[in-house]
Amino acid sequence: MTPTPRLMLTIDYESWYALSRRYDHLPAEQRRVLDENFARNAIDPILEKLKDKKITFYLVGELTEWYPELPQKIFDAGHEVGFHCQVHRPLTTVADIQHDFERSAEWRKKYNVRGYRAPMIKTIEDLYPLLKENDFVYSSSLYAPTGTRLKKENVWEFPVSTYPFFGHPENLQASRHMTPALLLGGEFPYASSMMSGLLPKTIFKIIERELKKGLSPIIFLHPYEIIKPEKWFRRIAQDVAKHPLLYPFTLSKAAFMDELIKSFPISSVIDFVNESIHADPKN
Ligand SMILES: [Zn+2]
Repeated sequence: MTPTPRLMLTIDYESWYALSRRYDHLPAEQRRVLDENFARNAIDPILEKLKDKKITFYLVGELTEWYPELPQKIFDAGHEVGFHCQVHRPLTTVADIQHDFERSAEWRKKYNVRGYRAPMIKTIEDLYPLLKENDFVYSSSLYAPTGTRLKKENVWEFPVSTYPFFGHPENLQASRHMTPALLLGGEFPYASSMMSGLLPKTIFKIIERELKKGLSPIIFLHPYEIIKPEKWFRRIAQDVAKHPLLYPFTLSKAAFMDELIKSFPISSVIDFVNESIHADPKN
């Protein structure tokens, strides 16, 4: 039986500073100071908001070193613990990805991590054989039309959803990240929190329509879009002034998320992946 349509709500769980690229190469201890316990403190109110709905958290690994209770709380609440990267920065070479997997192997094993989301949703085709070697079942690291699923090197790719205006795109090779080319190709990346920041009502309606068509959208949010960091404007003003496209990521999506939770059937990505794989005997 094919899995019932549902919304897959995912949270790329990273500190507030991940939005800026300015801190990527600081020593870890300085990033920890910058976080000021934001990632530790945001988890309880987020878990509370989810009530009994189960979703996927793609965690940045260094947060699990700083706050070991963070993955434990997510796991104990019955959500999927996925992997976003060990340290948040672009990972687009085999050597960098492999190094990131090595550094995260221990905690990923502890929490039975099977899902991967590339930072900035930007990756390379060479990712997929590495995923298989590192015990992943699936990745959600491309943008592609709702309902797309791809088998690459014995690993599944369940992309972050787009709405295609001119039919299904032909090339589904990595990278398919947020670029003008993606937009000009006629794909609206409605599942990005950039879009739910600008057009929450429209995005809600697209999700509703896709579900009615029997499709299952995969969308993402960030913790700092649900729980506002203290002194948020002051922390991020310089980055937004320099890169105005960051602005939608600074807007609160707390009400949007509440509306989604109230309105739609929701599951983690791994539950949907497992149901999809078992539904098709060819797999
Ligand atoms: Zn991220």
